[in-house]
Amino acid sequence: MTSQQQNYVGGAWTDSDTGETFESTDPTAPDEVVAEYQHSDESDVAAAVDAAAGAREEWANTPAPQRGAILREAASELADRKEELTELLTREEGKTHAEAGGEVQRAIDIFYYYAEKTRDLGGTRKSASGGGTDLYTVSQPVGVAALVTPWNYPIAIPAWKLAPALAAGNTAVLKPAEDAPGTALAIVGALDEAGLPDGVANVVTGFGDVGAALVEHDDVDLVSFTGSAEVGHEVYETATADGKRAQCEMGGKNATVVAESAAVEEAADIVANGAFGVTGQACTACSRAIVHESVHDEFVEAVVARAEAIDVGPGDEYDMGPQVSESELQGTLDYVDVAQEEGATLETGGGKPEGDRFGDGYYVEPTVFTDVESDYRIAQEEVFGPVLAVVEVSDFEEALATANDSQYGLSASVVTADHGEAERFVTEVEAGVAKVNAKTTGLELHVPFGGFKQSSTETWREQGDAGLDFYTIDRTVYDA
Ligand code: NAD
Repeated sequence: MTSQQQNYVGGAWTDSDTGETFESTDPTAPDEVVAEYQHSDESDVAAAVDAAAGAREEWANTPAPQRGAILREAASELADRKEELTELLTREEGKTHAEAGGEVQRAIDIFYYYAEKTRDLGGTRKSASGGGTDLYTVSQPVGVAALVTPWNYPIAIPAWKLAPALAAGNTAVLKPAEDAPGTALAIVGALDEAGLPDGVANVVTGFGDVGAALVEHDDVDLVSFTGSAEVGHEVYETATADGKRAQCEMGGKNATVVAESAAVEEAADIVANGAFGVTGQACTACSRAIVHESVHDEFVEAVVARAEAIDVGPGDEYDMGPQVSESELQGTLDYVDVAQEEGATLETGGGKPEGDRFGDGYYVEPTVFTDVESDYRIAQEEVFGPVLAVVEVSDFEEALATANDSQYGLSASVVTADHGEAERFVTEVEAGVAKVNAKTTGLELHVPFGGFKQSSTETWREQGDAGLDFYTIDRTVYDA
């Protein structure tokens, strides 16, 4: 039986005022409905923001370690439900069981991490003597946070916004993505079980109009958005025009440079993992390999072999799941056509895999293109599927320039045995995350994350201490 899920507003599970619902479906078998969610509208958003505004003062005045105790208890609730949430995430978003389990664990770890961080909050942070005057700064929450999240990490991203927001004493309204809202609701379920006061965290499900109504609401003080560049820039303009603090993390066209000195087999592992892990549906996915001509042919052979060894299919025993939706699948297939029209050579993949186990699932083969020029659309635009474009270059200068020849700047990596090259790369590459001898995907939760250029609004970072900074404002006190 399909479960019907409710919004979580003011500490209560509620139906939308619209009386309407929408369904999420299983990307491995789209005829199967996973759950029904409230098709909310502006009035549901208003009720949720009212609840968050009403809870604001009491939560801000709750001692930080006490807030942390609730986050810790919620982490423990999520940990108890890890297997169930992994299943739900797999069914709704299509990640493999191993990938989904890793993501749920990340959400749990994030709640534990920010729970511990609350021990450092609450009161004096820095002090200095000012000639007989006590000078100090006090960190305070900013207010009501609007959090809008994408489908591709449907539990980790809500967690990396909600946990620091609440730890720092803000209240929040979360609008999760419509393709996979289930695990975000589970987070507030865990917070509810953990004893979070009513109204401190709220979730309304629905589509883009709900996100827009939330961002525009007068009683919202700060906005944290993750999603596409197209929507993110609109959200940023709207929020900042209203004087709200805003942070938007968006798409990427992440490159791995394979230098002349690279160990080719290691480089192929790094690139294939970055490009095809989570079906290429990561903002940090490697979608460009920029390869020195001396190792190009050997690298292409090795990376194609890895792409062809990936077992695509549903369930636990396969390496790569489907794309999340028909439109995402179609988008990838369209880019396969575009790349070939532009003159790229399809080395492997490029279509839907055939066989009984695929049914009507949104599967696509791991795909590698060569003979790609840096100005081709396949080298410039975010595909958000398991598609790798290989660009051949003749020296390190050209490799660096090609890596930087992008409107995006989220993550980038270099595979090299030359320390000097590695150092130049991490200094000069225009990306918020720069890695050496590692894949572009994979983030540590205790260090800042964010992009350059069209990947991010740059002013604020997420995760680690930077995650708390966004949700905190400092007051400077002079006490004579
Ligand atoms: P999307 O922009 O379509 O949607 C993101 C969220 O915004 C959803 O909840 C959606 O309902 C909502 N939304 C849509 N229109 C809106 C509007 N006008 N106002 C306010 N909210 C609105 O993105 P998506 O397809 O869900 O996610 C994929 C994108 O997210 C990719 O571009 C990917 O690179 C990016 N992403 C970035 C990061 C990062 O940290 N940089 C992480 C994960 C995903």
